Amino acid sequence: MTVTNSQQYRSTRSSDKETKSFEAAVIQGLATDGGLFIPPTIPQVSQETLFNQWSKLSFQDLAFEIMRLYISEDEIPNEDLKSLINKSYSTFRSSDITPLVKNVTGVDKENLHILELFHGPTYAFKDVALQFVGNLFEYFLERTNKGLPEDQKKKITVVGATSGDTGSAAIYGLRGKKDVSVFILYPTGRISPIQEEQMTTVADKNVQTLSVKGTFDNCQDIVKAIFADKEFNSRHNVGAVNSINWARILAQMTYYFYSYFKATNGVPGKVKFIVPSGNFGDILAGYFAKKMGLPIEKLVIATNENDILDRFLKTGVYERSDKVAATLSPAMDILISSNFERLLWYLAREVLANGDDLKTGEIVNNWFHQLKTEGKFEVDRNLINAALKDFGSERVSNEETIATIKKMYEISENPKHYILDPHTAVGVCVTERLISQDKDSSINYISLSTAHPAKFADAVNNALSDFDNYSFERHVLPEELKKLSTLPKKLKFIERADVELVKAAIDEEIIKMDL
Ligand SMILES: *Cc1c(COP(=O)(O)O)cnc(C)c1O
Repeated sequence: MTVTNSQQYRSTRSSDKETKSFEAAVIQGLATDGGLFIPPTIPQVSQETLFNQWSKLSFQDLAFEIMRLYISEDEIPNEDLKSLINKSYSTFRSSDITPLVKNVTGVDKENLHILELFHGPTYAFKDVALQFVGNLFEYFLERTNKGLPEDQKKKITVVGATSGDTGSAAIYGLRGKKDVSVFILYPTGRISPIQEEQMTTVADKNVQTLSVKGTFDNCQDIVKAIFADKEFNSRHNVGAVNSINWARILAQMTYYFYSYFKATNGVPGKVKFIVPSGNFGDILAGYFAKKMGLPIEKLVIATNENDILDRFLKTGVYERSDKVAATLSPAMDILISSNFERLLWYLAREVLANGDDLKTGEIVNNWFHQLKTEGKFEVDRNLINAALKDFGSERVSNEETIATIKKMYEISENPKHYILDPHTAVGVCVTERLISQDKDSSINYISLSTAHPAKFADAVNNALSDFDNYSFERHVLPEELKKLSTLPKKLKFIERADVELVKAAIDEEIIKMDL
C-alpha cells in the first residue's frame, strides 16, 4: 500500500499553523502550550488491506505497518523501524506478544475473550508501549549525538514518581540506554514488596530509585517542582515518559488489530473492547484503530470509583473531584484523565469546528482553561452523542471487583481457575454486564487484561484466600518474580520529602553514573 510520507503533529491547544515532526513530538512529550500532540490526519486503511493482508501478519509485522503510517520514512527508514520494533518485543515472554485467551468461561456463545497485555518484563500492560519508547529515545539521541565530542552530547535525565505499580515499566524501558538516566521516586514503605523489588533490583548504572520518606503526593509534588526549575532543567535536560507521550498511544494500537483478527479468525465481525481505564491512553489507541478503519462495534470504558470519564459521558460535564479514592485498582486512581483531551480534540473538530484544526485548538484551550480556573467545563450535547457512537462507559465498585475475581476463579474453564488482577477484574465485571444486556451471541467481547495478578497480591488474596486449594505462591507468583527477593537492592533513601534533597541526590548520582 502507498504511504503518505508527511505525518505531522500539532498540539490539542494550539490555534496556529505550526506542526512538529514525530521525533519532536516524542522527545518533547508535552507541547509548550500545555496541550498534547496529535496527528490531525488519521490514516485510513481499506477493508481489503485489513482482512486480506494485515489479518495474516505477526504482531511485529503488524506493528510495523501501523507505525509506518504515523512516522515519515525520512524520519525513521523502514529497516530502522523494523529493528526498533523487533528489539522492543524481544523482551516479551509470549511469542504472540499479547495473546488472546478465547472463551475463558467455556461458554462458547458468551464469547468472553481476555487479551493478556502483561507478558512484558514488568508484567504490566505499560511494557507494550514503554519497551518501544525506550528504544525510540535511544535511537533519536544516538542520531543527534553521532560524531559529537563527549561534552557536547545531548543527555536526557528522566525523572518520575510512582505509587508503586508503574515505575518499574519506565525503568525497564530505559535501563541500559545510552545517554539517558532515569530517577524514579516512590514513597518509602507505601508500595508492596514485589513492586519495590521490581524497581530496586535493576542493576544498570543509568537507573536510580529514590525512596522518599513521605506520601505519593509528596513525590509527585517534588517531580513537578523539578520540572519547573529552569536552572536544574537546563543543566540536566529533564524529561518524562508519562502516559501522554504520543509514541505510547501509537505502540498500543497494534494489539487492537491483532486481537480483533484472533477473535474473528481474520474476518469482519462484531467486536466490543472493554478497557480498564484511568488516564485513557490504552482505550485511546483503540479509538485510533477504529478511526483507521477497523470495524469495532464499541469501545467500553471501565472505571473504578474514580469515574470522571463515566460521569462526563452521562452528563456532559467534565469535573475534577476533590480527592482521589484509593481503590483496589490503584493504576486507575486518577482525578483527571490526561489523554482524554486528545479524544475531545477530534470530537470538537467534527461537531463544533467544522473540520477546522485551528478553531478546534481554540475551543479545547478554552475548556482546559476553564477546568483550571473553575474545576470543570461543560460541552454541547451533540458532542456527547458523537462520543457515544464509539464509546460506552461503566463504573465498578471495590466489592464488585473482588466478586469478579472470585467468580472467574470459580467458573472459568479455559483454563480452569483463571486468576484476574483487580484492574482486569474491573473490565471483566463490565464485560459480564454487557453480555447479559446485549444477549447477542454474535458479539465477540475482548476484555483487556492490564496486569498479572502477582503484582496486586493483596486484592487477589483477599478474593481467593477462602478457596481450599488456592495458594498465591504456587498458583499466582511466577518464578521470575520469586527470584527478585534474592537479588541485591539498589536504592537511595531520601530522609525528608524535600525537593532540594532530591535535586542534590540526582546531582550526586549522575556524576557517579558517568554516562
Ligand atoms: C496504567 C494502567 C491502567 C490504565 O491505563 P490508562 O491508559 O491510564 O487508561 C490500567 N491497569 C493497569 C494495570 C495500569 O498499569
